[in-house]
Amino acid sequence: MIITASVAVDVKHPRAKKEYSYLVPEHLTSSINVGDLVCVPFNNVRVSGVVTQLTELNQVPKFKLKEIISKETVSLPNSLVHLSRELAKYYGTALIDFLKLMLPPKASTKNLTVYFISSVDKAISNKAFIQKQVCEFIVKNGPSTAQNISEQLEISISSVRSALTALIEKGIVKKEYRAVRRKPIVLSAEDSSKDIKLTEQQISAIETINNIFSSSKKTTLIYGVTGSGKTEVYIRAIQNVLSQGKRALVLVPEISLTPQMLSIFHQRFPGKTAVIHSRLSPGERFDEWQRIYSGSASVVIGARSAVFAPIQDLGMIIIDEEHEASYKNGEHPYYDARLVAQFRAKHENAMLLLGSATPSVESFYKAAKGEYALVKLTKRVSGRPLPKMEIIDMKAELKSGNCHIFSRKLLAGIKATLEADKQVILFLNRRGHSTFIICRDCGFVLKCRHCDISLTYHFNEKSAKCHYCGYTVKAPDLCPKCNSENIRYFGAGTEKIEQEIRRFFPDCRTLRIDSDSTSKKGSMEKMLFDFKKGAAQILIGTQAVAKGLDFPNVALVGIISADTALNMPDFRCGERTFQLITQVAGRAGRGDTPGRVYVQTYAPESFAIKAACNLNISGFYQDELKMRYKAVYPPFCHILNIRFKGRHEEEVKREAENIRAILYQKYDKEAEIYGPVPAPKSKIKENYRYNILLKSIKIQVLTEICNELQTINDNSRVDIAWDMDPQDLL
Ligand code: ADP
Ligand code: ZN
Ligand code: ZN
Repeated sequence: MIITASVAVDVKHPRAKKEYSYLVPEHLTSSINVGDLVCVPFNNVRVSGVVTQLTELNQVPKFKLKEIISKETVSLPNSLVHLSRELAKYYGTALIDFLKLMLPPKASTKNLTVYFISSVDKAISNKAFIQKQVCEFIVKNGPSTAQNISEQLEISISSVRSALTALIEKGIVKKEYRAVRRKPIVLSAEDSSKDIKLTEQQISAIETINNIFSSSKKTTLIYGVTGSGKTEVYIRAIQNVLSQGKRALVLVPEISLTPQMLSIFHQRFPGKTAVIHSRLSPGERFDEWQRIYSGSASVVIGARSAVFAPIQDLGMIIIDEEHEASYKNGEHPYYDARLVAQFRAKHENAMLLLGSATPSVESFYKAAKGEYALVKLTKRVSGRPLPKMEIIDMKAELKSGNCHIFSRKLLAGIKATLEADKQVILFLNRRGHSTFIICRDCGFVLKCRHCDISLTYHFNEKSAKCHYCGYTVKAPDLCPKCNSENIRYFGAGTEKIEQEIRRFFPDCRTLRIDSDSTSKKGSMEKMLFDFKKGAAQILIGTQAVAKGLDFPNVALVGIISADTALNMPDFRCGERTFQLITQVAGRAGRGDTPGRVYVQTYAPESFAIKAACNLNISGFYQDELKMRYKAVYPPFCHILNIRFKGRHEEEVKREAENIRAILYQKYDKEAEIYGPVPAPKSKIKENYRYNILLKSIKIQVLTEICNELQTINDNSRVDIAWDMDPQDLL
């Protein structure tokens, strides 16, 4: 019997990324499987690849086939190979690009010498103080490395080593060289009590979910207001899934923002939880991958890339805060974890559960149509009220002589809250609201040399920095264009807000959370933890503070400016504004004191802002759906954004026009084609950018276009990428 294997090879050139046939050498015929990682010859070099299909032949093939060279120990479940195939087709992307997202990083198990107790009966003399300490440490913490003991006890490594040697001689301790798991840090233990008394709404939600799980497995949307106890519903649903021998996957928008959720899951599913996200070291990720693949972890939590985790016997996929844009991968290979989860759930006969206090307009529409089952949690737990919200018209504030970033009401509110010993969160929308430098005389705006983006002013360093490429200059005193001294810093970044707060409340302890203050691994988790513990009274932050956090002591939330998202060139800007206000507001009043929220805006008449503040949720969705229907946007059509970029603007434009002409000829009747136009961010890192936008009611048409683009992309000087279901068009 002769066996041939199709192998998706991992090569650079986009056109060569395909599946090729190889002969399976005799010594591998009994052990090879679909999903195996193999090494194959390709154009005189060796490359790795994944086996995607095996075929038995009765005779030697006519063409002489090259042989597979060797096989690694890593293998993907069949279901993931199938998933890659579906995704490759949908997105018009090479199969191997998706398979690579599923493979563990190139790392191996870590072997270390660990010390453990072999006999507890033998006494240690009181004089051997260090030996005693070391021994107690091992008793308490289990098998440990010398390094670990030394760090935790703050005793030099050499002293620890000699103590260990002595303990081994006495027969108290033994050592062994073994594989150790690199454990990702998880901030420990808030007490998430197991015997919470569920609310009636929670009970009925869990019942509905369990019923659907044992019957149709229809996709279900939990629409539950902030603080309604969705996490507890997830946990019970997962318990039910595990009790039936299945496993669960939980996706969260961004892992560093959910340390609370992680620690709750670790407590409720001790030893069974695995965590996957981009901030893990390759070693940690490798170990978690192995635990998931081997089945020893039955609950997997992670950000968008965890949707590719090698879970077998998958029973349920939960997507928390399903409206979040971070579920979309904004670079090659473009994919939306929500769609991947849908494909995966369908093929593996698992149930998909979406949860949010502000569902995406698309999901809301599907639930309204009956395509999704809908479960509602309309009340907060323990009868807590939703926070009181108030719109503050900043134009009126300005007219009455207050040109400050804080309205008088917000200032008074902060003062009262601090006096009552409660905490405050001040929220600033990161997008489009950093401080830029502008000349009041000639209107000159200081921009990056390499990008068509204004530079952000940094108070502490007195510098101006590009947030796309890192280009930094000293902040000028004179306008570089007209030499005027009237050059000013505009807008309000988080640093500025912190500075102003210090001016008004000199004794107040503040904490600032943004991309600058939290670039170090684990620092975000620590800051959030500190805030919860009461280390600061005011938390100033960007998007990070908007999501899922549960701080019972926060009584006041101030949204410094609600409009910034409204002014983005994006059809979702109303939705984003509505979601952001509702989510940020949801951080207030989660403990025993009722919450209050001030929403500062220059556009108090905006429907999205009004609806969010009046808790007019269904009104917002109805209005938004009407608008989308009229203007033809999702969910009433599908969109595809084709992005062109390159060093020379003329070339980029010409290439975009060529492609447009090809598409127009073939698809004019079935798709609307807009552009090419310069992208809103028209130049980044010396690359000019153009977009073509396509709309169609038939997803198959857009999928076909993606697959066609894969074959016509031939201009190596202009890069073409196609983003199906884009989350932004910037
Ligand atoms: P959501 O995700 O819906 O905003 P959470 O799941 O974060 O809400 O729950 C809010 C808080 O309420 C958490 O501290 C949680 O432990 C607590 N909680 C959940 N269910 C109950 C309950 N039935 N009784 C009391 N507290 C609860
Ligand atoms: Zn000037
Ligand atoms: Zn730049």
